[in-house]
Amino acid sequence: MPAFSAHRLFAEQALLSTGWAENVVISIDSDGCIAAVEAGQAPAPGDGRAAGPVVPAMPNLHSHAFQRAMAGLAEVAGSGDDSFWTWREAMYRTVGLVDPDDVEAIAAKLYVEMLKGGFGRVVEFHYLHHTADGTPYADPAEMSLRIVNAAQAAGIGLTHLPVFYAHANFGGVAPNPGQRPFLHDPDRFLALLERLVPACAEAGAELGYAIHSLRAATPDEMRRILGAAPISGPVHIHVAEQTREVEDCLAWSGRRPVDWLLDEMPVDQRWCAIHATHMTAAETERLAKSGAIAGLCPATEANLGDGIFPATDFLAAGGRFGIGTDSHVATSVAEELRLLEYGQRLRDRRRNRLASGPGASVGRTIFDAALTGGAQAAGLGTSGIKAGARADLVVLDGANPYIAAASGNQILDRWLFALGGEAVRDVMIAGQWKIRNGHHDREEDIDRAFGRVLTKLK
Ligand SMILES: [Zn+2]
Repeated sequence: MPAFSAHRLFAEQALLSTGWAENVVISIDSDGCIAAVEAGQAPAPGDGRAAGPVVPAMPNLHSHAFQRAMAGLAEVAGSGDDSFWTWREAMYRTVGLVDPDDVEAIAAKLYVEMLKGGFGRVVEFHYLHHTADGTPYADPAEMSLRIVNAAQAAGIGLTHLPVFYAHANFGGVAPNPGQRPFLHDPDRFLALLERLVPACAEAGAELGYAIHSLRAATPDEMRRILGAAPISGPVHIHVAEQTREVEDCLAWSGRRPVDWLLDEMPVDQRWCAIHATHMTAAETERLAKSGAIAGLCPATEANLGDGIFPATDFLAAGGRFGIGTDSHVATSVAEELRLLEYGQRLRDRRRNRLASGPGASVGRTIFDAALTGGAQAAGLGTSGIKAGARADLVVLDGANPYIAAASGNQILDRWLFALGGEAVRDVMIAGQWKIRNGHHDREEDIDRAFGRVLTKLK
């Protein structure tokens, strides 16, 4: 039995897959998909009325949910040479303190925040599998199932990516104690995927998997998993986030990480290379031509001092990207897309770096690109507002004067460059309203549970 009946939503302005349109009726089926989109219509009695312009909800292609609990707590200077690697030690301390209830509470809160930021789906790159000392839970899928529960509580779409992690560095170096909650051998990892196939199908979640990084898996382990995994969903991997990773990869193989990945693995449209920050011009061109998505997380990359992704060159070579919030120092579409563009401006000392050409809107160019790339990386066959796509919609606040006075691409540029999450008024996921007037109907309970976790982590 359908959870709700078919309905229609009327919007004075909507960003369709064909571009901006006026007086649009979006017909939504009882299965949560868009049945039809018609422009130039008058609203019929009984139609829902969007309280502002309607745009597609954005997929968030990279998340480590538990890290939201420590966002803002790693901003105290250490010895003077703080880096990704010193931040990682703080992250491992958090890992040692959280149990499954805590992870579910953190993820539910985070996912509500993501909805409010304009995201409609999260791709959870999930490597926190076991207890702090590395003992598996009675159900080895316990932590994954908590992520599924949290996504259902928040009502966000989920693409779940259990992560294979076995080593501390290139060449199969033994893992360090802080990594014990993450570890599998290939057989145990493949069994976890088997266990999750029915669980994710039942929950309506997409299932793919990830290799944590080239540091964390040997080539033989990667090939074994790729050959035997019982699913055809997306494959993600962290790559070339840090210059030290590039140096270590060169020392181990004589090749840089992105070159190694493209030489040795069957990288294609199924793949998503997370960060890919440090590439030569040739690697940038090769990754673009592979059809893989570059998974960019600009706020986290800025927070960790990673570096600046070569987005201008990558797009010029036909590359595709999506955006993720990764460590969740930011949780909104606007912050990520704005920082993506601003990183390029700061590097080049020029403006409007990622617009598709003269006269093009930067906001529109990068919103469209991240929507399509994010959907590909999330394992979705389609995206945007059109018949056959899921009804994942964001209503921007038509009572906000910046939005009210804008039309077409100006709406996106105002939202992304001058406003932020506060411009997001309502969010519909699979045909059902999850955020109404900036509020989630389970928000008080979710906040209370999350608050208890933060108090424990103090
Ligand atoms: Zn990550």
